Amino acid sequence: MKKVIIIGSGIAGIASAIRLRVKGYEVTVFEANDYAGGKLSQIEGKGYRFDAGPSLFTLPNLVEELFMLANKKPDKYFKYNRLDEICKYFWDDNTQLTAWAEPVKFAQEIENKLGVPREKIIHFLKKSGKNYSILDKLFLQKSLHKLSTWLGFDALRGYSNIPNLGLFKTMNEENEAYFINQKLIQLFNRYATYNGSDPYQTPATLNVIPHLEYNLGAFFPEKGMFSITDSLVKLAQDIGVNFQFKSKAEIIIVENKKVVGVEVNGIRFLADIVVSNMDISATYRKLLPNERQPEKLLSQPKSSSGIVFYWGIKKEFSELGLHNIFFSEDYKHEFEKIFNEKTVSDDPTIYINITSKHKADDAPQGCENWFVLINVPPNEGQNWEELINKTRENVLRKLSKILKQNLIELIDYEQVLDPRIIETRTSSSQGALYGNSSNNKYAAFLRHANFSSNFENLFFVGGSVHPGGGIPLALSSAKIMSDLVRK
Ligand code: FAD
Repeated sequence: MKKVIIIGSGIAGIASAIRLRVKGYEVTVFEANDYAGGKLSQIEGKGYRFDAGPSLFTLPNLVEELFMLANKKPDKYFKYNRLDEICKYFWDDNTQLTAWAEPVKFAQEIENKLGVPREKIIHFLKKSGKNYSILDKLFLQKSLHKLSTWLGFDALRGYSNIPNLGLFKTMNEENEAYFINQKLIQLFNRYATYNGSDPYQTPATLNVIPHLEYNLGAFFPEKGMFSITDSLVKLAQDIGVNFQFKSKAEIIIVENKKVVGVEVNGIRFLADIVVSNMDISATYRKLLPNERQPEKLLSQPKSSSGIVFYWGIKKEFSELGLHNIFFSEDYKHEFEKIFNEKTVSDDPTIYINITSKHKADDAPQGCENWFVLINVPPNEGQNWEELINKTRENVLRKLSKILKQNLIELIDYEQVLDPRIIETRTSSSQGALYGNSSNNKYAAFLRHANFSSNFENLFFVGGSVHPGGGIPLALSSAKIMSDLVRK
């Protein structure tokens, strides 16, 4: 049986392992940590459980597909529910709005709360869906680095729709031209952060993201986000994938211009195919230091990172839901701080995810598990201790005011994640959450391909390569890679 080595058990590494095992390869996954999942892991303490990274789950079919590929029933391993309420939005002037999953109900809520006619929202979401259907087939399901991608029907459809795809305006420009209401512009501009970008720089093409939530749906796994990792690892093990934890790949072994395996803890492991789920910059710099480095691709600006406060809170807040956003007053200023000044605004937008709203055992009775995320720049050696302390104070002040509670007194448990920790724990370059940023219209073409142009048996998957970051795209990268292996 031909052997595959996968470096890293992030979600894309696990999906790659399943796909290649199903194809008949003998698969070993080497993972540096003593746990699987990379960013998609969990932490626990004092009776609280938190999903450590991703909190929003879209396109569950990409997960289910893996069980079906392996001839297993998905619901034997993994269960999830569609959300009726996607997010609760809060502004400093006490405006509150619920983003319902059902598009007409959501549009009606906006008409009621912000006075914008509901037809405008429905039209926006329809356009978002149409553009998504064009881009999905072209950019998200295929390698951009193969000629065949650019010659088929999907490409022709893409060319004929170029003027409508928003390539030549920024997301904010398109949203400002369409909606006059500043709160609504802010609400839809926020979708740029779903891949760590800046709405004032990223092309309006990213206005396809709302389609995922409002037309296709947002979901919550019954056992929390970590159960995506957990159930897929279980599936992989059931079909014979071998996971080796605390096994950091140190070098990709090249002999006679061919990749022949990987060195782990000083031991050589030979393989016919090597797939790296390690961040692409780290893969080249650390595992292939003597090979030609694709400098232009590796030096692209990175996506935003995050400071996360995991707070056990000794109270239940009926006004909060699973996903909550407390907007900053000056959104443009906030992104200037992140992407130009590489620091954190004093009035950052605050995202709170509370899984105990849907999974009661994630917090002790009468308490809630708050995952509080602030978008911050990638790590460039900033004084993170100072930024964390300042941000913590600002966040507590803002939330205490809006929720009319002295929050500091309610914090029962605390842990903090910052870009440096993300970088050390997962190898992500500069602790970026989503690999490269999408802050220019060529970004899709400046991500590394899912294959090596130097070695025919070396492949790359995960959030730092094509098609990009986030769970769905990382899963797509595994699918594209596996199709390339077949070819
Ligand atoms: P990663 O998760 O980056 O894992 C890489 C793995 O490789 C790690 O386990 C690492 O230990 C291992 N590794 C690295 N180097 C080596 C080596 N040399 N040898 C062996 N193993 C190695 N996405 C969403 O879709 N929705 C969200 O709501 C969302 N929110 C997020 C919030 C936060 C705070 C974070 C951190 C991320 C968020 N993301 C979200 C992004 C999402 O988590 C990532 O895009 C995705 O999980 C990346 O998966 P990956 O396969 O690239 O691997």
